[in-house]
Formats: sequence, structure tokens, C-alpha cells
Amino acid sequence: MQPPVAQRRNWAKVLAIGKVNVMKAYRIVEWGKPAEFVDVPVPSPGPGEVLLRMRGAGLCRSDLDIMGSTPGSAPYAEVLNPGFTLGHENAGEVEFCGAGVHDLQPGDRVAVHNMHHCGNCEFCHHGHEQSCTAFARGAIGITRGVGIDGGLAEFMVVPRRELVPLGALDPVRVAPLTDAGVTSYRAVKASLDRLYPGSTALVIGIGGLGAYAIQFLKLLSPATVFAVDRAPDRLADAGRYGADHCLLSDATTREAIMDLSGGRGADVIIDLVGSDATLALAAAVSRPHGRIVLVGLEGGTLKVGWGRIATTCEFTISLGSTLSDLQETCRLAADDRLLIEYESFSLDDIETAFHRLREGQLRGRAVITFP
Ligand SMILES: [Zn+2]
Ligand SMILES: [Zn+2]
Repeated sequence: MQPPVAQRRNWAKVLAIGKVNVMKAYRIVEWGKPAEFVDVPVPSPGPGEVLLRMRGAGLCRSDLDIMGSTPGSAPYAEVLNPGFTLGHENAGEVEFCGAGVHDLQPGDRVAVHNMHHCGNCEFCHHGHEQSCTAFARGAIGITRGVGIDGGLAEFMVVPRRELVPLGALDPVRVAPLTDAGVTSYRAVKASLDRLYPGSTALVIGIGGLGAYAIQFLKLLSPATVFAVDRAPDRLADAGRYGADHCLLSDATTREAIMDLSGGRGADVIIDLVGSDATLALAAAVSRPHGRIVLVGLEGGTLKVGWGRIATTCEFTISLGSTLSDLQETCRLAADDRLLIEYESFSLDDIETAFHRLREGQLRGRAVITFP
């Protein structure tokens, strides 16, 4: 099939006639220095790639960690070279298709999978793109916004296979789903076999990810859902997202969970914080044949052994998501099954957005929108 004329235009020619040639990008220039705006060339899509005009780019706590990395520090600066555009929660519109991409048209809305993958390794073949041997580096995956150019710029290039078409869905609304949403979706989906009528699930940490973990648990499982956080206003959010019991994190939390669950504890625990204290709570309420899923990167540890967690309870660390997770998450959004909350900011106002994220002042996610 011949690609349409619009796709056959030579992108280099478009640049040459001066329509678009440079763009402003928010970049890590050097470890240990604040991120900054830099004028960079508009990227050109190679074979199998697509040039996207950005519409929505969500900001994430990982961005704060990346920006705060000192030279050589784990987990980012020790494996990534500086000199990349931030932004790993992206959705936009097709601007131009590279050679061999015939199933998208300029103007099509797409979500960007936030796990860059090779498509050829053992894990990619098995549908575990988040563990791609070419790009996974311990606790992180090299991806757009994390080691290579991301979405905090007017344009971005993405391999076609890492895009999910959105139809009529608004890409600004979808942006938070491409990391916060889909990472939570993976943690929940992998645990559904432990959740049956009468079971209980616990979500620890009701931030950007927790909002979605609660919703997916309620949508996809029959479990009673507990939400725990240190901040009272976040617990109010948890109730709006559908949690059955919202508990402040303090010395009595374990007891309260045991009481409210009739002494059973939690069959599935999703820890989106990952501190010593939250992992200790997870272990203390774990149930036989249950599952503790660690997602949060706070760096806490849990001693595992007889008497430490429930017998036959599984402990796992969940990293990122798969392409099918993103497709399914977007489908739930298309069916209007998700409460997606965000505040939008212009790219020029990104420092305000990061400040409000850092201070915990946002309602939902911060999404950078583009004119
Ligand atoms: Zn993130
Ligand atoms: Zn791979």
C-alpha cells in the first residue's frame, strides 16, 4: 500500500523551508545541576519511527529524583549519561511517519508506552517489555525521558511499536495513564489471581499511582480495598477513588486493618512507597497465599524469612508495564471507567508544576500541555 502524500513528504524539506527547525526542550544537561531549557533540533523519524507533536506530558516523582541526582549516584546517574530531554509520561498527535509506517496518519492521537524496548530479546518475545535486556538497568529502564529524549519538548520521536492509538480520547487526559496509570495497572493485574470474593487488598501510598491502583482493584477484582497514607487529604482522595477503608498511617494502622478485615489481614498488598515502615506494615498484615508487591522506590528493605511474612505469601518487585497493559488502561479510559485527575501547566510554567509536585500541593497529576 502506498503511504499518503502527507507521509511521503521529506521531513528534511519541511525543516529546510524553515517551518520548524528548532524547539525548546527541558533537559538534564549535567548531573548535579538543575534541569534547564535548551534549544535543540526538531528530531527526524527514522524507518519505523513516528514524529509526535506533544499534547500532554505528565510530571512524576521520578523526575524529581532524576533532577536531584548527583554525579554517579544510584539509580539514575550511575547508568545514564546526561544530555537528554525529560518527560516519560507522554501522549500526542502524529506529525509525520517515518519510512515503513503506514497505519497511522498525521493528526492521529496516540499514547506513548513508557518502556522503551528492542522487540527482539527473550523478554520482549514473551511480552515482558519492561524487562527488555537492551534497556533495563536494575531498578530503572532506559526510556524516553530517562536517558533518551522524552516529551518535555514540542516534538518527540517514538518507534511505531511503542505507540497505542487513542481514537477520540484526549491525549492530555491520557498522559498520566502512560506511567502512573499503567504502572499501577501492572501491579494490580499481576495480583488478580489472589483476589476473590471476600478477599482484601491494601494500597499503601495514595499519590499519583495510588489513585489508579485503588480504581483498578475496584474495577477488576471483588476485593475489599484498604488505603493507607500519612496525609489526611490524600485519604479523602482515596475515598473518591473508591477505597472501602481509608486509614492514616500511624502506630495503630496494623491493628485497624486486622480489625476491619475480621482478623484476616490483606491478601494483596501494593506498596507504592517502599520505605522500611511501609514494608514492615505490608509484612505484618500479609496473609498465606497472598502477595506483597513493591513498587515504591524509597529504598526501604524487608527481611524475609520464617515468621517475617505469612507462609506461602509471595514477595515481588514490580517494574513498569507491558504494551498490553497500556492498551488495556487506555481502553478503560475510552469506556469512561477511570477518574483521571490532573492540573495542567504550560511548558513555560514547568518550574511551578514541579514546585507544587515537590510540596505535595497538586490535585492529581501535573500535566504539561502544548499549544
Ligand atoms: Zn514516573
Ligand atoms: Zn527487548
